[in-house]
Amino acid sequence: MALIVQKYGGTSVGTIERIKNVAAKVKSYVDQGHHMVVVLSAMAGVTNSLIELAHQISPDPDPRELDVLMATGEQQSVALFGMAARDLGMTARSLLGFQAAILTDRMFGRARINHIATERIRDLLTRGRVVVVAGFQGVDEDTGDVTTLGRGGSDTSAVALAGALNAEVCEIYTDVEGVFTTDPNVVPAARKLKQICYEEMLEMASLGAKVLDIRSVALAAKFGVKVHVRSTFTDREGTMVVPETHIDEKLMVSGVAYNKNEARIKVLGVPDQPGVAMKLFTPISQAGIVIDVIIQNTSADGATDLTFTVPKTDFDRAMGLIKEIAPQIGARDVKGDTNIAKVSIIGIGMRNHAGVATKMFTTLARENINIQMINTSEIKISCVIDEKYTELAVRALHDAFGLAEESAPAAEEVA
Ligand code: ADP
Ligand code: ASP
Ligand code: MG
Repeated sequence: MALIVQKYGGTSVGTIERIKNVAAKVKSYVDQGHHMVVVLSAMAGVTNSLIELAHQISPDPDPRELDVLMATGEQQSVALFGMAARDLGMTARSLLGFQAAILTDRMFGRARINHIATERIRDLLTRGRVVVVAGFQGVDEDTGDVTTLGRGGSDTSAVALAGALNAEVCEIYTDVEGVFTTDPNVVPAARKLKQICYEEMLEMASLGAKVLDIRSVALAAKFGVKVHVRSTFTDREGTMVVPETHIDEKLMVSGVAYNKNEARIKVLGVPDQPGVAMKLFTPISQAGIVIDVIIQNTSADGATDLTFTVPKTDFDRAMGLIKEIAPQIGARDVKGDTNIAKVSIIGIGMRNHAGVATKMFTTLARENINIQMINTSEIKISCVIDEKYTELAVRALHDAFGLAEESAPAAEEVA
């Protein structure tokens, strides 16, 4: 008998039939004597239509009210699940974020969980209840206001609950069978990984593989939560997200990720003087806009070009700010491009291996894909390219690194 936290994503609870199917799945665990905490997302498409609704009222909806609205998606799912569970003879109790005491800060739309006061959940579990928690939402601990954790945030709710409750495992049920070498919806030959370490999963998530929300991976690593990503629609084993020391085989490259949600801003003819970057980027960070890749060219004639990427959703705001500052610092021009994508390869095995970057660049060159920006860390290489070549680049890289095969090249085999 174990305490298990299970999270079901939007597609998994996307129809009434599917909610009933999930309830039956949970029942099979209850019948084995496990204590169950079930975290649910909103039914597929619901969060998007709520956001759409808000934008019909206002082009810039009030963040507090938007959270109140968005949280209703998960409220629907847990209530419907509670009813389905009861019909199957389970005694379930649905809890919204505030009832589950998921205490957050006040950053509406991207709130952080500070603490979960688990007494009520533990009490319900002791009394044999299946606890059904609305994912993606929390409560501002100072005011009691409803908050949401950011898109994809139900994964984070589940991992945080698993950590706080010291659960045996946090199972993330989704519409694919686990974490694959790349998005299986883009490359059908992608291979399911048996295991992936926290560091690689963190990179994969931050580089666009939305199968797990990045904050959920960071929390899992911090609290050592065992995460099992698997399919709602089969009983097959999925992917275990584990510490690096548990990885049997360290692949040179474990995965390819892509992100189409960034845009590029180029500031041309920037005077090559101390303090210029500070003047450009301070207002951007003050506006809460997160910059990703930055490159600065070597200067010619005392001037240089600075190029950087921002989330597409922040592009207009960032352009507005930069266009205001550019003349003040003596820059010549500002140009923006929203048709870009970032493709990345990730692998702990690439540490200290020189050949990997060259192979990536050669592969893209062979497909005639121009690299606009490059960014590297110890275990990843990212290239910014024209958005229209994303799928081609992902497929070519997946092929070049032999990821579809059962025995992808291990770290030792690299030049
Ligand atoms: P859920 O609604 O269950 O949270 P998401 O849509 O957020 O599901 O995440 C699952 C999706 O992530 C898959 O349908 C798949 O298209 C995408 N994905 C991207 N990269 C990967 C990857 N490397 N492995 C598995 N899925 C991936
Ligand atoms: N419903 C939220 C979203 O669509 C949270 C989640 O599904 O994880 O982003
Ligand atoms: Mg998700």
